[in-house]
Amino acid sequence: MTEFYTRALVLDREDVGETDVIAHLFTETHGKILVRAKSSRKITSKSASYLQPLRFIQVRFVTPKKNTATGYILMDALWDTVVPQIPTEVKATLLSLVHTVRELAPENQPDKRVWSLWETILQQPQHIPSAAHVLLQLLGYYTDQVTCGVCKKNTPKRFVIRKELFVCDSCASQLPQDEILLHV
Ligand SMILES: [Zn+2]
Repeated sequence: MTEFYTRALVLDREDVGETDVIAHLFTETHGKILVRAKSSRKITSKSASYLQPLRFIQVRFVTPKKNTATGYILMDALWDTVVPQIPTEVKATLLSLVHTVRELAPENQPDKRVWSLWETILQQPQHIPSAAHVLLQLLGYYTDQVTCGVCKKNTPKRFVIRKELFVCDSCASQLPQDEILLHV
């Protein structure tokens, strides 16, 4: 059983069964990973409260004895030394950026550039307007695409995360309301 210790950004959490929590994390040392917080462990039931999207935390986790598909086992979580103050008006934008990492970043591949982008975003919210561009480029999407992926005519202004598609405002307005879009 190998133990790891790293800083992490919480991307998402899911409650599983009666007592467990699965957290999607973007970590400094392992890139995007899943960790499972078992509430049967006294110490992690407290840690589970740190597992909220957009939190910057420090985590200790171990490899499971078998079946790595369900992720690592969380042993402990704490606030990071840097606790960002997130202005309310940018929270929705930040959540869509977090969603982008959750959907599109490869698992178990550390990426120093994506990590330092998040450090910048969370410490200096004035960088948020250009962050979607930078993030998509770091994840391998070309934001200089010249035409909308649907109508092939207009200039793309949005990125449809689930479809990995750049679209214009007009085509974006035809999409279902729950489709998560980034301004680019
Ligand atoms: Zn279009």
